[in-house]
Amino acid sequence: MPCRTASGAGCDSSPGKAFPPALPGWSGRMTEFRLSVRDLVAFCHRSGDIDHRYTPSPTGEQGMEGHQRIYRRRPESYLREYPVRYRHQQGDIELQLRGRADGFDPASALVEEIKTCRVDPGNIPPPVSRLHLAQARIYAALIAEERSLDEVAVQLTWLNIDTDEEVPLRQSCSRAELRAFLTDTLAAFADWLALLARRRRDRQASLLRLAFPHGEFRRGQRLVAELVYKCIDQGGQAMLEAPTGIGKTAAVLYPALKAMAENKHEALVFVTARTVGRRSAEDCLALMAGAGMQASSLSLTAKESVCFSPGKACHGDDCPFARGYYDRLPGALAEAIQHGVLDRAAVERIARAHEVCPYQLAQDLLPWVDIVVADMHYVYSLTAGLDRLISGDERRWSLLVDEAHNLPERARQMYSARLSKAELMRAKRSSSPAVRRALERVNRALLALQKEAWGEEVFRQELPAELVNPLAEVVAAVGRAMADDPRFVPANPELMAFYFALLQWLRVAENWGRDYRLQLQRGDGKQGLSLGLNCLDPSRLLSQRQARAHAVIAFSATLSPQHWMRQLTGLSEAAVCRRLESPFAAEQLRVELETAIDTRYRQREASAPGLARRLARFLREAPGNCIVYFPSYRYLASVLALMQADAPLWAERRLWQQRPGQSLEERDELFQILRSHHNVAAFCILGGVFSEGIDLPGELLSAVAIVGVGLPQVGSERENLRQWYQQAYGAGFEYAYLYPAMQKVDQALGRVVRSATDCGRALLVDTRYGWPAYRSLLPPWWCYRE
Ligand code: SF4
Repeated sequence: MPCRTASGAGCDSSPGKAFPPALPGWSGRMTEFRLSVRDLVAFCHRSGDIDHRYTPSPTGEQGMEGHQRIYRRRPESYLREYPVRYRHQQGDIELQLRGRADGFDPASALVEEIKTCRVDPGNIPPPVSRLHLAQARIYAALIAEERSLDEVAVQLTWLNIDTDEEVPLRQSCSRAELRAFLTDTLAAFADWLALLARRRRDRQASLLRLAFPHGEFRRGQRLVAELVYKCIDQGGQAMLEAPTGIGKTAAVLYPALKAMAENKHEALVFVTARTVGRRSAEDCLALMAGAGMQASSLSLTAKESVCFSPGKACHGDDCPFARGYYDRLPGALAEAIQHGVLDRAAVERIARAHEVCPYQLAQDLLPWVDIVVADMHYVYSLTAGLDRLISGDERRWSLLVDEAHNLPERARQMYSARLSKAELMRAKRSSSPAVRRALERVNRALLALQKEAWGEEVFRQELPAELVNPLAEVVAAVGRAMADDPRFVPANPELMAFYFALLQWLRVAENWGRDYRLQLQRGDGKQGLSLGLNCLDPSRLLSQRQARAHAVIAFSATLSPQHWMRQLTGLSEAAVCRRLESPFAAEQLRVELETAIDTRYRQREASAPGLARRLARFLREAPGNCIVYFPSYRYLASVLALMQADAPLWAERRLWQQRPGQSLEERDELFQILRSHHNVAAFCILGGVFSEGIDLPGELLSAVAIVGVGLPQVGSERENLRQWYQQAYGAGFEYAYLYPAMQKVDQALGRVVRSATDCGRALLVDTRYGWPAYRSLLPPWWCYRE
């Protein structure tokens, strides 16, 4: 490889060079698949309707605790989590089945599958029990073969974690019966396996041939591609800071696909933070598909956005797309898997054609597709389906995390929760008597908290233990009500809103640690109490998720300082961190630093007239469309009011102003105006929707002015962060205020130059731009003049 430097120097495009270099080709003889018993059984033995009444079942921790309870009741000879492996050959295809039976007792030849629930096990629908029993029978078949057992007791045990009731479903099966069941299951899987094998061969051949989608590597792209390939090859972690315009999406996706061709990993997720990132990945994949790539990719979309029956329950009695869903699923899967790039429109079209739920179809496709394009929520949240898949799947998954600078803040939100007494009282109005009784117990626990002596707000390091059990009882009561009545969910929207908030609260409580604070606020009136579980530092939970992936590549235009971003994104100390050089010339963005104007809160009134004059001068000097960023709406309005007296300025400029609470349509207006005019002066909020994640190339945007350094507002929550970061990393102010602020500034600054032909100007206004601590955090690749 020609270059290994961190700077990227000497990594210009290298026309004609193959990527990756000098790698062995694919042998093409035997096609191998690794599959979990769970996925095999789910594919072959599910039938009938979608029925979510029994989900969410107990939380992960409750489920594990339930398993432990059962284990303690089993004899000493009982082996927990007994691993099974089996090789199945079908022509030139080899299927390696793997899994873990919950328990195997050699003394009594018992194979057990344990499931926890919060309802009367007698009410579990037969298709659900049949599915789990099928899983137990496959484990039993594999263990009978391995241990040459003539007779096996196969047991599915339901445990109601609330009542501790154990309900066993037991069958005695001969080895021949179990072998026949395994053979029938594999026969039912045969056509799908043959289709997967054909797709795999076509995929591998097409990926080996695949050329870089944009012809030659641009400056910097080859280095990114090499780092990504090497990281996946070694199963490591990397953090790449590369300026906008380098073409990061293609430079990251392409080597990841080449690595797939070389069996370095089997699947990948392109993790996005915003719609624009998802579109960019989909466009890049479509381009590669157009050039012959035959990998299958799937974009995940939120349930509310794709649901064909809004307002209905996800149940066969209520929604026609849930009725008989699993009977029509095989046809839908077969069409979808051969489609190639499955964006939202493609999934919806196939779902309509087969009359199946589009959301569930996407979920059921996950074990079979090569590439998933998904928002951070699907990978990192406490309910993330992809995280569960990655940790249980036999395939090695790599994560390509786009706009990774957003991950810590998004994760902090995903790992936090809030409950309010007002919501509880609303939920009480709309619920069944049993649920109301459970809610009343919660209310009593809240009243006891309210009576304790604390001020208007308090932060604590301990969870209110006396609240956790009553909250869990509400979950159980709602679960029973849902099980009794499929229409319970759509019929009780306020209760369900509280229920989902409650589930999140309990999930967060399960993950509680020293990096959390309980925030109690009295609020207004008797019902004003709220209980926040505030995640201060998401790195512990993020690192658990990052560690489950084969490789993680986090990339963005703003990941500095590296030690801060590496820690907060949950990457390991061994992660390779690189900042690449800009592909642009320094002169393409002329940045002026106006350090004579103090924009700190207390000085704003005094400095407003001078600031208004300075901005007006900049708008006169900088032709073309310009966005002026302010730290708050109030400050923006007051300075703009002063500027509006300058009639000649507005004779030349078209004004657009961001306001709080604008609708999507109102926000879209700015993009329309920028497209149709070349004299726009838009006044927006720093850190808001117009300061990052938007692409305005060429004449769409020629200049930006940034007022202030973007420091977050001082408040009790931010101060908690500062104290935590001081204690954990010895850098409280930097981690809680300075670094996040300057990241926002760098993002806003990065809006202007988006391609090799873009040129523009920028103005940064604040005395602190003259201070080394702030100045050193500005991107090094532009010219700065005071
Ligand atoms: S179409 Fe909507 S209501 Fe029907 S199963 Fe899917 S998500 Fe649920």
